[in-house]
Amino acid sequence: MMFSPTLPNSYDARDRASLIHQQTDLKAYRDDGGTLMKRGEGIWVFDESGNRYLEAMAGLWSASLGFSEKRLAEAAYKQMLELPYYHTFFGKGNLPSVDLAEKLLSIAPKPMSKVLFQCSGSEANDAAIKLVWYYHNAIGKPEKKKIIGRVRGYHGNTVASVSASGQPHMHSDFDVPLPMFRHADNPNYYRFHEDGESEEDFSSRMAANLEALILAEGPETVAAFIAEPVQGGGGAITPPAGYFDKIQPILRKYDILFLVDEVICGFGRTGNLWGSETYGLVPDMVSCAKALSASYQPISALMISEPIYEALVSESDKLGSFGHGYTYGGHPVACAVALETLRIYEERDIVGHVRRVSPVMQEGFKALEDHPLVGNARGVGLIAGVELMADKAARQPFDPARKVGTLVQGKCQEVGLIVRAIGDRIAFTPPLIITDDEAAEMCSRFAKGLDAAWSELKAG
Ligand code: PMP
Repeated sequence: MMFSPTLPNSYDARDRASLIHQQTDLKAYRDDGGTLMKRGEGIWVFDESGNRYLEAMAGLWSASLGFSEKRLAEAAYKQMLELPYYHTFFGKGNLPSVDLAEKLLSIAPKPMSKVLFQCSGSEANDAAIKLVWYYHNAIGKPEKKKIIGRVRGYHGNTVASVSASGQPHMHSDFDVPLPMFRHADNPNYYRFHEDGESEEDFSSRMAANLEALILAEGPETVAAFIAEPVQGGGGAITPPAGYFDKIQPILRKYDILFLVDEVICGFGRTGNLWGSETYGLVPDMVSCAKALSASYQPISALMISEPIYEALVSESDKLGSFGHGYTYGGHPVACAVALETLRIYEERDIVGHVRRVSPVMQEGFKALEDHPLVGNARGVGLIAGVELMADKAARQPFDPARKVGTLVQGKCQEVGLIVRAIGDRIAFTPPLIITDDEAAEMCSRFAKGLDAAWSELKAG
């Protein structure tokens, strides 16, 4: 939705004059502006003109408890009065970070040894990559350093985490990926399976290609594989049947660490507490963020297994201090808010709620496969991706230059629905508190957005 005409001194004008928007077409933004949100209520947000939107992305896959959970504001306020800041450097710390670390270890998808708090998903994954390198130096395997991510995977935007990500538009002009990163196939079965290939066969092909990549690089040089249980920024792509069951034995065979990025999937999104549970993953490190604090505070956590922790400690004699850390890692206010978030999840049985409401959303989108624009709708729990297709029978995508995904996203916004177009895949991750009625409303608004886009495309 555009703000026109632009009034001098309006927020829109001041915004365009002063801010760089992230992950945004900067020229289009300078010319047309965007949407500034003013307040939130449940799963709804309101822009500065008072227009109301159902936030079907929970912001950035993240505002799990919606936009008006007072208990989180109170938790922050209380902690700010008690101790507004204290770091975790030089052997110092604070109490909420201890409580939160213990809590996370008690609910980890696999027994984990220790928690490192950071401020964002990118930083948690960046730290994971640094620890992979540090670990292999510590255990006397300095040649084992390459990290394998996946095409369209997303792990963040620091230099290392964006290198692990497989998003070409985030690499070009930034001189990344760094040299020690490789990318395995994108597991989007619908788009990339061959005619007649079953999901299991497709997964076998993905696993065989990964093994071939490892062998070509030399297994003694490959340190870790990083993956999201469900690829988020790649388009909300759920793994095909058998995918991780076939990948994990290969990682074990070549002694490759498995870094599981639970930044989107963690805390109930897939209908279990962790995506790792949903898909039977056995990680060596787990990163999480976003729903950890319902996004009311910037905080992430990296959980690491005992052998990795022991290797870190073993370097103390040689190196003295562990040379990694951020001013705000383990921030007491962020930790207090995260603790309250986890309490709310348990009290309200958020995982059970996701399981109950998920069919309304998933079946609602599945029904839209009859729509002329929709080739495929697929998801798990409260995450789904809807693939728009030019020719459904031939599985022929639109010419990217037509920006059909962006058109659909804009039409949805006109009917009060915020979705995210990732190319021509439309992603959905509503707040986990969405009700059945709201989920039905989300599907019906999406159908309206699709109809409006279809009318415009037909008209040429
Ligand atoms: N990993 C995944 C799976 C993500 O989806 C994201 C953010 N969308 C990140 C990492 C990076 O998190 P942040 O933006 O908090 O740095």
